[in-house]
Amino acid sequence: MATRFVIIGGGPAGNTAATHAARLGAEVTLIERDVIGGAAHLWDCIPSKTMIATGGAIAFTRRLEGMGLEQQAPEVDIEALTERIESIKMRLQRSTTNLLSSQGVNLIQGTARVVGPHSVEVTRTGADGTVSTEVIPADAILIATGTRPRIPDWCRPDGERILVTRDCYPPKVFPASVTVVGSGVTGVEFVHMFNSFGAKVTLVVSRQQVLPSKDPEVAAVLEDDFLRRGVTLLKGARATAIERVTNEAGDEEVVVRCDDGRTVRSSHAVLAIGSVPNTDGLGLEDVGVQLDGGYVVINRHCQSSVPHIYAAGDMSGKLPLSSVASMQGRKVAEHVMGLQKVAHRHLDYDKAASAIFTEPEIADVGLAEADAFASGRKIRVTKVPFSSTPKALINNDWRGFVKIISDPATGVVLGGSIVGRHAAELISVIALAVTANLKVTDIMESLLVHPALSEALAEAAD
Ligand SMILES: Cc1cc2nc3c(=O)[nH]c(=O)nc-3n(C[C@H](O)[C@H](O)[C@H](O)COP(=O)(O)OP(=O)(O)OC[C@H]3O[C@@H](n4cnc5c(N)ncnc54)[C@H](O)[C@@H]3O)c2cc1C
Repeated sequence: MATRFVIIGGGPAGNTAATHAARLGAEVTLIERDVIGGAAHLWDCIPSKTMIATGGAIAFTRRLEGMGLEQQAPEVDIEALTERIESIKMRLQRSTTNLLSSQGVNLIQGTARVVGPHSVEVTRTGADGTVSTEVIPADAILIATGTRPRIPDWCRPDGERILVTRDCYPPKVFPASVTVVGSGVTGVEFVHMFNSFGAKVTLVVSRQQVLPSKDPEVAAVLEDDFLRRGVTLLKGARATAIERVTNEAGDEEVVVRCDDGRTVRSSHAVLAIGSVPNTDGLGLEDVGVQLDGGYVVINRHCQSSVPHIYAAGDMSGKLPLSSVASMQGRKVAEHVMGLQKVAHRHLDYDKAASAIFTEPEIADVGLAEADAFASGRKIRVTKVPFSSTPKALINNDWRGFVKIISDPATGVVLGGSIVGRHAAELISVIALAVTANLKVTDIMESLLVHPALSEALAEAAD
């Protein structure tokens, strides 16, 4: 009998696990309460990057003058932008659903919970409002239910002026001024997005550096760019309250109050202070699955404390990235089907590439310079600014640099970071080198294209 594999959640973790396990011969059931594609397609990666792409196109027009072209300020059409976001979401949702169906995955629309070690209950609401439940037997279960934005007790988002990231698209209006609370990856992407669309933006930064977990040199380039674009950085301030008020002119506003007494007024405020796992009500603890702060505790095979119940994606508490969620899903499928006993590369979270879609883009992978210094590990760091790369000059955009970190004894590439145009694409070269244990000479001796931004990679490797 085929392995009966039941998956709860159709985001990147769940749908990748489903496709892969079905290909490997499992009998797969995937239960999703909203849409296949998950929060990644519905609210997070896809709509945010689509809006940022339009914002980036606007930002690009600011450099036209230096390219021998007249500068023209483009007008944003909110309706057309909304249609564009919806059409991209629909296309991706359709192609993911078609792929799952073509692999024979049994798709169920409903809300699931675990009711026994080998039983998943699905609750469905029919078109006429009738509610039905069904219990599905499982040899293996994957929990891939994702996370939702964290809402602190000092503020009540209203979806109108006090927003969480999911309230920002489709865009109902473009705010005249926005205060973004939270200076991690999501926060800085939203600063870039709103600033590109012409809003006056203030960023509340709880530490002294935006992107506190990133290389200070990388964060400095972004801070410079923000300041040049007129973004106000409120450093060392923690938001403690956000309230709606009416100003002297009778207009509605929000006031963000900080712990050091400073306040910021703007037309809108956006909270970007992390997320919480969707594990409540899933029945996990009742069947012995161990949680930590709501996240499922997993081992390197993504198994929970109950070995045939797996967890993958954001609610597994590892790196909250769509790419990581998908790879976890793939590895779970391989483990469910016993492939870890044959050739199987284990997932190494330290080698995950990530990007921040600001202007300039920021991307990194592997060992960070600061972490190497902190641990006393000897490293070789080579850094090449894009200003010495012909293609960057041709593009009229030579901000940023490529940094490669390698082992001085062996030349093996350990990590790297890139700040600049197309950083999210260029980091793939360093990511491949880090995953495959390639040496700097492997990058340096690759016959790359000229003129291309990738020449900076070869130069940094040299
Ligand atoms: C604003 C923003 C931008 C982002 N941009 C990027 C990016 O550019 N690149 C990147 O790699 N990552 C990005 N991320 C992170 C990325 O969105 C997540 O890492 C990814 O969505 C995680 O996938 P997942 O499968 O764990 O969960 P999700 O995508 O959240 O999917 C979980 C699914 O489970 C379903 N579900 C939950 N409970 C149940 C239940 N009881 N029964 C049935 N179904 C259920 C939900 O409806 C949902 O569809 C971004 C995040 C945010 C907030």
